[in-house]
Amino acid sequence: MTGLDLHQDLRTGVRDLCKGFPDSYWRELDVQRAYPDAFVKALTDAGYLAALIPEEYGGSGLGVGEASIILEEINRSGGNAAACHAQMYTMGTLLRHGSEAQKRTFLPRIASGELRLQAFGVSEPTTGSDTTQLKTLATRRGDKYIIRGQKVWISRAEHSDLLLLVVRTTPIEQVKKKTEGLSILLIDMRRAVGNGLTIRPIRTMMNHATTELFFDDLEVPIDTLVGEEGHGFRYLIDGLNAERILIAAECVGDGRWFVERATKYASERRVFGRPIGQNQGIQFPIARAHVNVESADLMRIRAAALFDRGEACGPEANMAKLLAADASWEAANVAVQTYGGFGFAEEYDVERKFRETRLYQVAPVSTNLILAYIGEHVLGLPRSY
Ligand SMILES: Cc1cc2nc3c(=O)[nH]c(=O)nc-3n(C[C@H](O)[C@H](O)[C@H](O)COP(=O)(O)OP(=O)(O)OC[C@H]3O[C@@H](n4cnc5c(N)ncnc54)[C@H](O)[C@@H]3O)c2cc1C
Repeated sequence: MTGLDLHQDLRTGVRDLCKGFPDSYWRELDVQRAYPDAFVKALTDAGYLAALIPEEYGGSGLGVGEASIILEEINRSGGNAAACHAQMYTMGTLLRHGSEAQKRTFLPRIASGELRLQAFGVSEPTTGSDTTQLKTLATRRGDKYIIRGQKVWISRAEHSDLLLLVVRTTPIEQVKKKTEGLSILLIDMRRAVGNGLTIRPIRTMMNHATTELFFDDLEVPIDTLVGEEGHGFRYLIDGLNAERILIAAECVGDGRWFVERATKYASERRVFGRPIGQNQGIQFPIARAHVNVESADLMRIRAAALFDRGEACGPEANMAKLLAADASWEAANVAVQTYGGFGFAEEYDVERKFRETRLYQVAPVSTNLILAYIGEHVLGLPRSY
């Protein structure tokens, strides 16, 4: 099968699966702020969430390009891939830096759906985007780490068995460079909750299952360490490009959904005796949103191709994320304007998707931080942060 055939097959397969989870499914969950368990199970059973897991561990051994198509199609179908995307963007860290024992223990069970790896713990309340300042400390005692600290915005923690956690193993005052002394732990939350880990949900403007985590001397075995102690920052950076490409694809999916819905509505809705889409004031913003979504998609395709060939793709991954997040947000705004009053009504789903796609201006990395990266690392401007 050629790459293009495979991509088309993936698109058709995910779209068909998503038909079983129509707008009303997502709308109802949104009202209840409930996790889309049935959807995530169906996606897992169909093998899509094991896309990045190599075949020898029970997955399909595909690349980030293919994984991004799966997430894009979920959002394009009106769903929200945020319910399950972390399994894709945490996978690289485990594949590249995990021990053979960790891979054998976890990957086949993640691929079969017995275990979920859907939680990724980086953000902290007092340090924000300044990741190297994070304070959650794992102290070595015998064959254990004792973890103390707090995380915020850790999504899906209540619906995941495993958590990929970024901690300091050496306090920042004791390292030469602030990027040193960070480590990554793969924690089994089923054992941790109630034994030093407390999860507290945060209610947000969209249905996102995000939480705060409190670590009060949680004891975990030292074999939870992924890779070498103190090298976690490098492993983290490795994974972030994949994360940016995957989020860009979700935004492209959202953008296409908004453009399709706005186009259909503008063609059908008649006011002053003609379809509103006949007015250039309605038609041109939809056309412009389409142009911007499709242009962002080109950067996402380029970034994914570089990533999957193992080439450097930091600028492209960041540009893709910025362009796609801007394009989906613009398309969301245009869709609300096109729908007029009905854009605000829950039953049309536009306001729900509008709230969902707004997140990507801020998370997992904010637009400003991407511009700061491009300014400094691509253009050679003075560091601004
Ligand atoms: C719904 C949701 C889900 C999330 N899920 C996860 C998750 O699963 N795991 C996880 O680890 N994190 C998660 N996050 C956290 C997310 O990655 C952060 O919110 C994001 O990185 C921004 O950090 P912050 O909120 O602390 O903002 P801050 O760092 O406090 O920044 C606030 C604002 O100031 C701007 N700013 C800050 N510094 C500068 C500067 N030097 N120059 C210009 N502008 C600047 C930022 O761009 C931003 O707009 C989630 C967040 C949300 C809202």
